[in-house]
Amino acid sequence: MATETGRCYGCRRVFTFDPAEVTTFLVDPETGRPPGITALGSLRPATPDAVARSVDEPVCPDCVERAERWRETGNPLHRGW
Ligand SMILES: [Zn+2]
Repeated sequence: MATETGRCYGCRRVFTFDPAEVTTFLVDPETGRPPGITALGSLRPATPDAVARSVDEPVCPDCVERAERWRETGNPLHRGW
């Protein structure tokens, strides 16, 4: 199994992962955010330029789990942890 080391987009923790299995998040390196999301967190159409320069950032299992829990509760302020 191949492993790589990277920094988690969510918590900036360095972790090792299998590139074939890891969850990734598309991030525009110029803004540090996914293309299509503004500094205010609102949505706008992603420009082709932004998408073209964006890279997939790995997300660690802890953050994936947290994101899934948020999605289930529908409330990021709900603290189950
Ligand atoms: Zn993380």
